[in-house]
Amino acid sequence: MSSIYFNDEHDSLRQLVRNFVETEINPRAEEWEAAGIFPARELFKKLGDLGLLGLTYPEKYGGGGVDYWYQTVFLEEIGRAESAGAALGIAVQTDMATPALAEHGTEAQKEKFLRPAIAGDAVFAIAVSEPDAGSDVAAIRTRAVPDGNDYLINGSKMWITNGAQADYLTLLARTDDGGGGFRGMSLIIVPTDAPGVGVSRKLDKLGYRSSDTAILTFEDARVSQANRIGPEGMGFMLQMRQFQVERLSGSLMTAAMLDKVVQRTIAYTRERRAFGKPLIENQWIYFKLSELLTEIEALRQLNYHCVRRLVAGQDMTREASMAKLKAGRLARQVTDTCLQFHGGMGYVEEYPMARYFRDARLISIGGGADEVMLGIIAKYAGILPGR
Ligand SMILES: Cc1cc2nc3c(=O)[nH]c(=O)nc-3n(C[C@H](O)[C@H](O)[C@H](O)COP(=O)(O)OP(=O)(O)OC[C@H]3O[C@@H](n4cnc5c(N)ncnc54)[C@H](O)[C@@H]3O)c2cc1C
Repeated sequence: MSSIYFNDEHDSLRQLVRNFVETEINPRAEEWEAAGIFPARELFKKLGDLGLLGLTYPEKYGGGGVDYWYQTVFLEEIGRAESAGAALGIAVQTDMATPALAEHGTEAQKEKFLRPAIAGDAVFAIAVSEPDAGSDVAAIRTRAVPDGNDYLINGSKMWITNGAQADYLTLLARTDDGGGGFRGMSLIIVPTDAPGVGVSRKLDKLGYRSSDTAILTFEDARVSQANRIGPEGMGFMLQMRQFQVERLSGSLMTAAMLDKVVQRTIAYTRERRAFGKPLIENQWIYFKLSELLTEIEALRQLNYHCVRRLVAGQDMTREASMAKLKAGRLARQVTDTCLQFHGGMGYVEEYPMARYFRDARLISIGGGADEVMLGIIAKYAGILPGR
């Protein structure tokens, strides 16, 4: 089904990833939801063996060396998985914790850290948020103080996806208190087996239950300064850039997930009868579902516009912020409407609709809340003069 965006190679990749999701993820989704974690090491190794964890990364380190349209296909198919938690964990590995390393890491760093990430031999997490600093990234307090050739790291990180099982953290820490605010931060690769790095607890969440989300602590954790990505003090800037890929990846997965939810609702309302006819034959229902499909298509096209800019090497901050905002809002609208059309079956855990509804709520919060996206959009639009 080649289209203006995708050729036969993309279609083959889509089929490969779809098969993987249907055989390796979906049959175990409920088990992982109940366990509150998915086996990242086992799953990532299988994905790595298929060459799926670094499609856009250089072949030199085991990557695929192809452009982001291939990653788009990958994320759309992963986004349809029944375990949203596993899907998120995978995207953390490919699109949230490793882009800065791939773009700004040294040869030695890429050999040591990017190669195992691509092979599925190491699990990565991105550690930015803290108990007292989520939306306001410039307020983080975790400090990495130079000590000989090392940093001594103290502080804590909160909400860290893959946090309970990661081998490496891409950590944003304050390396110089001089300037305060966004100045003086660095991105550092932290091995979780370094003495002083600990998981204080795994969080119990409304949705994405198969994803392990942890609070991490650092008590005089010693990490080599050779693990810093880019020059000292550039961490905030590198992370802001990395956030754009994170937000786009989230939006791509969300559009695919929402399409699946509507398709399942169409199937359900065709089967379910009330007042002597299938539910779907009520104009209110098929109009509403058609409207949602239109909104999802609009989101998909905005996503593709971001991909076009990314592949062309252009800044997509404005567009990725809009896509992330739209994805969060639409996720709530689609799952709420579709749950309603399932009646009581939408409210019980025996049917996946309740899970979709719970999972969807994260999208307006994680990766930057809706309001943070609105702030960025306002800035790009020059709505408030001088800011
Ligand atoms: C399941 C899950 C997984 C996550 N995974 C990761 C991860 O892997 N790595 C990581 O670093 N972080 C992760 N996060 C953290 C996430 O990025 C933050 O939760 C998010 O940025 C919001 O920060 P906060 O929770 O501290 O909310 P706060 O900053 O306390 O904000 C609370 C609310 O206030 C409102 N608000 C904030 N700022 C403004 C403003 N300027 N104007 C108007 N309203 C505003 C928003 O509605 C916001 O939701 C995850 C979070 C969750 C829930």
